[in-house]
Amino acid sequence: MLKIQNLNVYYDAIHALTDINIEVKEGEIVTLIGANGAGKTSTLRAISGLVPAKSGTITFEDKKLNGYPAYKIPYLGISHVPEGRRIFSNLTVMENLQMGAYCRKDDAGIKKDFEMVYARFPRLKERMKQRGGTLSGGEQQMLAMGRALMARPKILLLDEPSMGLAPIIVQEIFHIIKEINGSGTTILLVEQNANMALSIANRAYVIETGNIVLEGKASDLLQDDSVKQAYLGG
Ligand code: ATP
Repeated sequence: MLKIQNLNVYYDAIHALTDINIEVKEGEIVTLIGANGAGKTSTLRAISGLVPAKSGTITFEDKKLNGYPAYKIPYLGISHVPEGRRIFSNLTVMENLQMGAYCRKDDAGIKKDFEMVYARFPRLKERMKQRGGTLSGGEQQMLAMGRALMARPKILLLDEPSMGLAPIIVQEIFHIIKEINGSGTTILLVEQNANMALSIANRAYVIETGNIVLEGKASDLLQDDSVKQAYLGG
């Protein structure tokens, strides 16, 4: 479904991604784990057209994404939940969700998806008229995910959904990610919380200073000694 081949990304002199290869097949949860600054966010931003590829290709359903403008990416069925949520603080919950559907014109379908999002995140329904900025961190993460779902994506790119959240909320968010995948949405999940990410993913890639150093079944990586040492607390 999504294929990244020999991708190189630079920020001026900084070589952020070096010959990255990642594949996500339809229906999978694939996770990209790695430490701070390893290149996880840059990978997602390259897919979404937010940073240019210096070389290499990104294809989605056989369509080349290189050079494709970022605002058009959701029309292809790719939704991005960015690091730090980036919700619209001054807009209400309902308005934030509406923004997620900017690429759609099917009013009846949009209305149905509001109900789908409210069913998946009952707390957003309770707070639909509240401004986004007044929500807790966990609720803001739910809102960012709900907003992305309003585009009815084929694939959801999630950038560190667990960041800054209490363990109990992280569990809830990961449970919801599993559910979203169960209802047919493919997921590429970027995480520093390797334990949680590997426990829900089918396959995983480990990134270190811009290089993919390991890949395999998530269940195998959970047992891998080097992964245990570096990412799972020994
Ligand atoms: P984090 O979890 O901290 O977001 P990450 O794994 O997502 O880390 P990236 O944010 O992709 O890593 O960063 C990869 C490298 O690129 C790092 O060395 C980072 O300092 C650098 N970098 C990222 N964004 C920029 C930018 N806008 N300008 C210059 N360098 C950048």
